[in-house]
Amino acid sequence: MVVPAPRLQPGLPALCGRTRLTAIFGNPVGHSLSPAIHNAAYAALGMERAYVAFEVKPEHLRDAMRAVTALGILGVNLTVPHKVRALRMLSGASGEARLLGAANCVTNRRGRLLGDNTDARGLQMAVESLGVVLRGTTVLTIGAGGGAAAAVLAALRLGAGRVVIANRTVAKARALGLRLSAVAGPGQQVEWGGLDKLADPALLGDVAAVVNATSVGLKDHRFLRCDYGATQPQTVFYDLIYGAEPTPFMRPAIVLKRRCFDGREMLLYQAALAFRIFNGIEPPVDAMRLALNEALGASGR
Ligand code: NAP
Repeated sequence: MVVPAPRLQPGLPALCGRTRLTAIFGNPVGHSLSPAIHNAAYAALGMERAYVAFEVKPEHLRDAMRAVTALGILGVNLTVPHKVRALRMLSGASGEARLLGAANCVTNRRGRLLGDNTDARGLQMAVESLGVVLRGTTVLTIGAGGGAAAAVLAALRLGAGRVVIANRTVAKARALGLRLSAVAGPGQQVEWGGLDKLADPALLGDVAAVVNATSVGLKDHRFLRCDYGATQPQTVFYDLIYGAEPTPFMRPAIVLKRRCFDGREMLLYQAALAFRIFNGIEPPVDAMRLALNEALGASGR
């Protein structure tokens, strides 16, 4: 006979002897909204699973990865600062994780740790769900880290004709541009340069979307100098950063009545993709979105 597991409180998944874990490793990790999103999905589906956050210091990452197999954890998400280094500790990785040079999602397949990266697909799904069409357009991506790599890949997959990478460190923009050029299709080109691109009227007048994939705005009150006024009224501004309030990148665009989005839908869809990879079933996206928006509101970020 299967005895239903006790629930600690409404909305939380049941914990019992059969409960299997999924998790996130980060440092810091206390601010992460992933536990709220994944646990809402387990609760909605009545699954005997739970998702917890572990603060893992960089020097303990290898031990933590070994614990995934030792404890039978089904899968872990990786966040700052582990995404890049963890790639070298895995039994295997998807082509996408290798292309992006980072894994944000690791599945335990009978003791083999397999890495994937759901950021680009998450952003692609977010952009599609928001009804933004990029086919044949020019996209300006600011930044050259892991988030920017995902943004460039998503833009190429969404059919952008020209993707321009602008970054403070031009050498990093160049390295990313060369790496992602390899997956550009016919009629698509990837260019790169410094932050002076944000004051190039010809470029800004041509862009369909500007994507902030830097960490500027996470702690800063102001975004970088950018000539928002040179963009077209239909230009879309997309920030990978998210918060309860409009981000510093979004604020000048809102004043100009441009369409703006923060990174919460990307976060949602990368989580939904990870949920499917970890658990092998379709994620309840609406319940996950509700939990994300509630947690974001409560976080006051
Ligand atoms: P990362 O690898 O550390 O890259 C950070 C980028 O920001 C680099 O291009 C860096 O330029 C630039 N930067 C930092 N400080 C700057 C400054 N003061 N002026 C100009 N540029 C500066 O970070 P990441 O992993 O790509 O993440 C970037 C952002 O995306 C983070 O805020 C992260 O939270 C967000 N993100 C969101 C999602 C989501 O699901 N919504 C997913 C992934 C990432 P240099 O190369 O010159 O150092």
